[in-house]
Amino acid sequence: MKSEQREDTTASKNGKGQYQIRAHHGMCFAFFEGKGYSDSFIRHMGEMKKVLEENPLICLVEGTDDVCGYCPNNQGGICHQQEKVIEYDRQVLKMCGLPSGTVLSWRDFSDRVQKKIIGAGKRTEICGNCQWNGICLTKNNSKL
Ligand code: SF4
Repeated sequence: MKSEQREDTTASKNGKGQYQIRAHHGMCFAFFEGKGYSDSFIRHMGEMKKVLEENPLICLVEGTDDVCGYCPNNQGGICHQQEKVIEYDRQVLKMCGLPSGTVLSWRDFSDRVQKKIIGAGKRTEICGNCQWNGICLTKNNSKL
């Protein structure tokens, strides 16, 4: 059963075998605890988290990514909170010192997010206005 879900997730790789991840999702995965916008979104987040634990290559993209694909806020490839999340992405990339389009391992990226943002106590400067902020505030600085 799990392998069926995994196949579905793997199919979302881009043509170069890289998962497409928007930068602020590096923080979302660090705090994900099985809550989200819909049942299918939560299921997919859980599967993506397992996939990322295997440390694949990712490409940091602007716009909707392999997480957004299952989100009810994704309206035809545009996030309905676009202004807010684009700014989150921009700030994460800046703090991590990475340009959009960078290809790197998930571990490399999540380590940067941890070191430069979460561990440095800067997360709320970026996404303190997110609806899920309360979850992140109550959790330790967990990461994949
Ligand atoms: S809220 Fe927007 S950025 Fe977040 S997963 Fe949904 S579509 Fe993507």
